[in-house]
Amino acid sequence: MHSAERQPLRQTGIGAAKIVLGFSLAYLLIDVALNEFAFADAWTIVWPLNGVNVALLLMNPRARWPWMLLGIEIGTGIGELIDGNPALMEVGQRLCSAIEVLSSACLLPPFVSLDRWLRTPRIFMRFAAALVLGPGISGLMAAVLFHYGQGQPFLLAFNNWATADALGMAATMPLALSLRSPQMRSLFQRDALPKTLSLLILAFAGAAVIFNVGRYPLLFLLFPLLLLVDSLLSFAGSAIAVVGVLFISVYFTSNSLGPFGVWPADLRIPRDLAMQIFWGFQMIALFPASLMFMERRRMTEDLHDTNARLTLLASLDGLTGIANRRSFDERFAHEWNRALRLRRPLAVAMIDLDNFKQFNDHYGHVAGDQCLCAVAQVLGEQVQGPEDLVARFGGEEFALLLPHTSADGALEVVERIRAAVLELNIEHTGNPWRRVTVSIGYSALIPIHGDRQSALIQLADAALYQAKGGGRNRVETLSSIDGVQASNAHSTTSRNRIARMLGRDR
Ligand code: GH3
Ligand code: MG
Ligand code: MG
Repeated sequence: MHSAERQPLRQTGIGAAKIVLGFSLAYLLIDVALNEFAFADAWTIVWPLNGVNVALLLMNPRARWPWMLLGIEIGTGIGELIDGNPALMEVGQRLCSAIEVLSSACLLPPFVSLDRWLRTPRIFMRFAAALVLGPGISGLMAAVLFHYGQGQPFLLAFNNWATADALGMAATMPLALSLRSPQMRSLFQRDALPKTLSLLILAFAGAAVIFNVGRYPLLFLLFPLLLLVDSLLSFAGSAIAVVGVLFISVYFTSNSLGPFGVWPADLRIPRDLAMQIFWGFQMIALFPASLMFMERRRMTEDLHDTNARLTLLASLDGLTGIANRRSFDERFAHEWNRALRLRRPLAVAMIDLDNFKQFNDHYGHVAGDQCLCAVAQVLGEQVQGPEDLVARFGGEEFALLLPHTSADGALEVVERIRAAVLELNIEHTGNPWRRVTVSIGYSALIPIHGDRQSALIQLADAALYQAKGGGRNRVETLSSIDGVQASNAHSTTSRNRIARMLGRDR
């Protein structure tokens, strides 16, 4: 055998030994602690450990299960021997316990994350089956053991084992599964902490009252209380509340207080069983409600995500993936108002592919689309300011929005763009440069109150037509009416036209 093949085997051996030893030690300590704990007698009402055990199995691959179970039962067994249990009975009990945990775990889906686990199809039915079958099978075995080993009545022995285990599992398994979930973490984050703590305190204080007062029937308050916590604290918060409230109820009841504490001794259904039945129904009703609340929260989150995605999609151009006309218009209005407020310049450039109709006619629309994408990419590369925006304005026209940018700054950017498109070197026989080129018109101004927003775009557009008229593959500007006046390059009519665009009286 190669050493590479032997390696994993040896590691498995060491790994298994580690698991057995670790679990033995941990469970020895836990068992001793539970036996010392004040309500040692009450463990026949609810036994908390097997729910945790099942959860631990579900979190681990099946190959580890035998070793984990072995460790758990060795540790617990030694703890019970220390407590004075007869050895043979203890071996039998450990076997029952291991079979219970194993059969419940087999009925449940493996645990990866709480959200996914709870969304497994028919999880409620599987959970219920695990609670009934695991404790049921092992309860029967335990009843035989206690009946023949210690002469206990069969039914009593079954009930002491199976019901307590089922109840404990129903309570502690959800908590154990939630412990390391993001849900649980978010409950104890700083901003959520006051709400979490106040609701948990409310639940525990409420439980202390409900299970302390025997004179008035307050039991009906329990379900609304648990439901409230569940609806406001999510599954994880509810899991803490249920375990806490359950143990508070068991504590008071086993001290003969509260509605179950004053249970008449001559009834056919004994106190502990009545309490277990009551809790069983609480949980049966609470778990689906809990799942429903969770589903509702998840749907709300999904809706938010979907809305965010749709908003993003609605703002992008389907072909090139850059911003579309809609986002340009929105951003433009926003930047215009900001520039007005801050008295800062705002620049806009219109970029149009030259002789693009001929490109399409000659190379086809698919090549035309590819060309548009390539140009859009160049624009994105050349315009890198955090506040700048490149958008497809429509057809083969792109628009550039450059906040806080003067005409000089804008010229630098658009000239860079013109050169970069030329450098793309996309063949275009119908163009005098024999490759794809763009013409760019731009305009920059500091808006003043009374200016029309569209005027800036119209100025850039007018400049674009100048660039086209001037021979294409070039940039032109009309930066402001004052600029036009100063340069004296334009006729009075064109000056008047620009003044009309801006809505200024000239
Ligand atoms: P000029 O240099 O004066 O701008 O000439 P031009 O041919 O580019 O201008 P014109 O407005 O006559 O034609 C624009 C062409 O752009 C029309 C159409 O074939 C092409 N075009 C517009 N949108 C798209 C598009 O989404 N995909 C493709 N492939 N072509 C488009
Ligand atoms: Mg055009
Ligand atoms: Mg064109």
